[in-house]
Amino acid sequence: MKAATVGADKRVAVVEKDLRPLKANEALLKMECCGVCHTDLHVKNGDFGDVTGRVLGHEGIGRVVEVGSDVTSLKIGDRASVAWMFEACGKCEYCVNGQETLCRSVINAGYTADGGMAEECIVTADYAVKVPDGLGSAEASSITCAGVTTYKAIKESNVKPGQWIAIYGLGGLGNLALQYAKEVFNCKVIGLDVNDLQLDFAKELGADVVINPAKEDAAKKIIELTDGGAHGAVVTAVSKAAFNSAVDCVRAAGTIVAVGLPSESMDLNIPRLVLDGIKVVGSLVGTRNDLAEAFQFGAEGKVVPKVHMRPLEDINDIFDEMIDGKIKGRMVIDFTDK
Ligand code: NAD
Ligand code: ZN
Ligand code: ZN
Repeated sequence: MKAATVGADKRVAVVEKDLRPLKANEALLKMECCGVCHTDLHVKNGDFGDVTGRVLGHEGIGRVVEVGSDVTSLKIGDRASVAWMFEACGKCEYCVNGQETLCRSVINAGYTADGGMAEECIVTADYAVKVPDGLGSAEASSITCAGVTTYKAIKESNVKPGQWIAIYGLGGLGNLALQYAKEVFNCKVIGLDVNDLQLDFAKELGADVVINPAKEDAAKKIIELTDGGAHGAVVTAVSKAAFNSAVDCVRAAGTIVAVGLPSESMDLNIPRLVLDGIKVVGSLVGTRNDLAEAFQFGAEGKVVPKVHMRPLEDINDIFDEMIDGKIKGRMVIDFTDK
């Protein structure tokens, strides 16, 4: 089978690979599609360490074609996900208290396990979440990382209906953050991006206000507009400047949820933190349950991922387009026309 693997010189190599036989708790997926996340860009660039040869992809959706002897959670013909949280231990404090993404023995698809950017993928069956009827596979692929991550991040922000949330970065994750914030959590949304293409897109999606922080003082404008600051901010931008602005834009008791992964530190003024009682939380993808919920909102049409289908051979071009800020929504590798 063909697979997109981490190659030399920060390029992705499309190679032929053979899969090993299934273990008793595993399922074999014939992949239908796999979205391209900015995290794949970090992985193939070696930002999290050298994983040369690893099959990329953690926004994968495939159809079950074979199951191991112990599998009860999936059956042949089901559609299921290949997500960043590919497998956890199921026993540690995080696994049993509802924080399984923080399991200290977690395995991540497309990073520490071969992922879904391939014609076939072996998954740990109990961790592959079923796609509900009514949700297309391409749309489901986007929700498998971008959707669930932002859905969970908004939960973490604790912003209530009618309150203001600022979304920094309106790319693959941010446009879905906007949709979940508006259509599921019923918030008032301020969309921020340094790229005007993304601001236009955010307006189409119903953002209440859009701001380009490269052109004006975003935090100042948000404080004026909201009479004291946003109640929460979700930062998906891969930029320290966005994190710093988010800290400045929230009102007292506001929450900043860190999602983007720039390899930098942010400035956090201690009196600001203490005297204004603000909270800063990191949020990592979502649990299997979060993903099932996020899928269901997609199936109900509340959230509609904007996807563009591309052949596997385009993978390096897609990363160039991502770096150049040319992508509106998500690029999704299509494995169905082969
Ligand atoms: P993307 O490239 O599609 O979008 C990033 C957006 O941020 C772009 O539109 C860009 O113009 C914008 N941006 C850049 N600088 C900005 C600034 N100063 N202010 C506002 N906007 C700015 O990337 P993506 O796929 O949405 O991923 C975003 C980040 O989230 C990556 O670092 C990725 O690794 C990370 N991520 C984290 C999780 C998690 O669980 N925490 C999950 C998935 C992705
Ligand atoms: Zn991702
Ligand atoms: Zn665990």
